[in-house]
Amino acid sequence: MKFPTKLVNFDPCPGDPYRPVATPIYQTATFEQESAVSFGQYDYSRSGNPTRTVLEGQIARIENGARAFCFSSGLAAITAATRLLSAGDEIVAADDLYGGAYRLFSKILVRTGITVRYVRADDLDSFRQAMSPRTRMVYIETPTNPLMRVIDIAALAKIAHDNHAILAVDNSLMSPYFQNPLDLGADVVMHSATKFLCGHSDVTGGAVIVNDKAIADQIYLIQNGEGTALAPFDTYLLLRGLMTLSLRQDKQQANAQKVAEFLASHPLVENVYYVGLPSHPGRDLHFKQERGAGSILSFTTDSLETSRRVVESVRLFGITVSFGSINSSISIPHCMSHSSIPPEVRENNSVTPNLVRVSIGIEDANDLIEDLRAALAVAADAKAATKEAQAAR
Ligand SMILES: *Cc1c(COP(=O)(O)O)cnc(C)c1O
Repeated sequence: MKFPTKLVNFDPCPGDPYRPVATPIYQTATFEQESAVSFGQYDYSRSGNPTRTVLEGQIARIENGARAFCFSSGLAAITAATRLLSAGDEIVAADDLYGGAYRLFSKILVRTGITVRYVRADDLDSFRQAMSPRTRMVYIETPTNPLMRVIDIAALAKIAHDNHAILAVDNSLMSPYFQNPLDLGADVVMHSATKFLCGHSDVTGGAVIVNDKAIADQIYLIQNGEGTALAPFDTYLLLRGLMTLSLRQDKQQANAQKVAEFLASHPLVENVYYVGLPSHPGRDLHFKQERGAGSILSFTTDSLETSRRVVESVRLFGITVSFGSINSSISIPHCMSHSSIPPEVRENNSVTPNLVRVSIGIEDANDLIEDLRAALAVAADAKAATKEAQAAR
């Protein structure tokens, strides 16, 4: 079965005698047991819920993993993955990460005696050099967000394994439709299901997908033991959104390519970061390991003032920190999603204040381009007016 077929062909309710075509929401905390001395398949929804079983099976299937576990948010999923480590262990992480991952690592994980070292995302040698006998996990996103640096997953998996560490990949930006890190040697894949998997901005959720049975057992222990599993109704919404993943992403990607080309041709735009552009430095590597460029891109203008004017003048793009939804969105990562990154790391990895990130939705591409063109014109007029005022003084 090809990917789009898989998305809509699965047993929505294993064992149900009424054979519903949509997955029922088992909105129950507990399940009655037939016996006082042994448990049935389900006993308590923190430990297992039939609605969640269906979603976890589906996510494992499309991410080419043996098991998947769904959590109440992407950060709960990432937290669960980091629980594979113990005090004294070390993580070597790429320096261009989701802001919330930095906050988790630097403000919370550090209290448990786990240290994190950051290295330049697209430089394999810097990973190699950073590995120590205490390194148990290498942690990345690729392409990175918002700078779209591309990391060679297979090569990094080898570096991790040669050093007795596991490779964990946050695959939220690409989703399983475009990229399957487990196939390339990663040991743990995490998702903010809030983004593409859901696609409609109506759920926060997360997932961890693994192949190794021992790791799967650990993640299950953490999900059940810490009580961070996804709730039944949210699970249902996610299952519903997931069925259109390939349709949405095909359209979003086609739109993103057109928007990226438009931005690259605009005089007020300095750099465009999008792996679908021929000029992108990581393009060849990206297409060696992925099936598409996705629909997130970023660009810079001459200043925060200009960027801010563009962001505040567009009408079809909501100013939101999230991405991956059917609606286009726009943000200034420096001030929003990435504000929890320590300033020294942020300056180093060039998430500068003038950088604008856009997530392209399923709207008509020309509407989006005209909207951006108009916003850029507003910013250009304002810039010219400021210059004139300065000259008159
Ligand atoms: C949003 C995001 C997260 C966090 O997910 P939540 O569902 O918001 O907790 C993690 N990683 C990436 C890459 C994200 O974009």
